[in-house]
Amino acid sequence: AATTALDLAPVVTDCLVLVGHVLSRSGIDVLTDLPEVPQVVMGRGEMQQVVINLIVNAAQAMGESGQLHLSLAEAERHGAAGVALIVSDTGPGIPESLLDTVFDPFFTTKQAEGTGLGLSISQTLVQRAGGRISYRNRPEGGAEFTVWLPVAG
Ligand code: ADP
Ligand code: MG
Repeated sequence: AATTALDLAPVVTDCLVLVGHVLSRSGIDVLTDLPEVPQVVMGRGEMQQVVINLIVNAAQAMGESGQLHLSLAEAERHGAAGVALIVSDTGPGIPESLLDTVFDPFFTTKQAEGTGLGLSISQTLVQRAGGRISYRNRPEGGAEFTVWLPVAG
């Protein structure tokens, strides 16, 4: 796939439109903080896959109601200039016992709608772009995924 410099804010808003029906069907509020940040090097379709997977995971974790928060910020990592996309929810979070297991291919805790491939594929795509995807449980509850990507050029 062609990989050129990519603006992340429009990708995030496109994804919210694409999966908007999933969110509006339930009582999930969407909060965004999407300032203009430096461009990254990643295919648009690949980044969409990553963002949509994180949004759908958050929506499925929250179920009927909750808050989905998406934010962009410049973020240095080990001295490298980069951009962080943070996707957080107010769902139950991820049990500490699962640690990085959630990134394993085919790992799912979902009965029917889960393939267990979303985070595995997302991690592969992000790492291929020189980035990193990580998560933590927020002290106030809910899961928070961070996609870090180096800036272009
Ligand atoms: P799938 O969504 O098909 O189950 P994923 O790779 O996208 O596969 O996610 C793997 C697992 O990680 C999920 O089944 C779930 O247990 C856990 N998970 C992912 N995102 C969240 C989240 N936002 N809150 C709670 N658990 C999550
Ligand atoms: Mg998923």
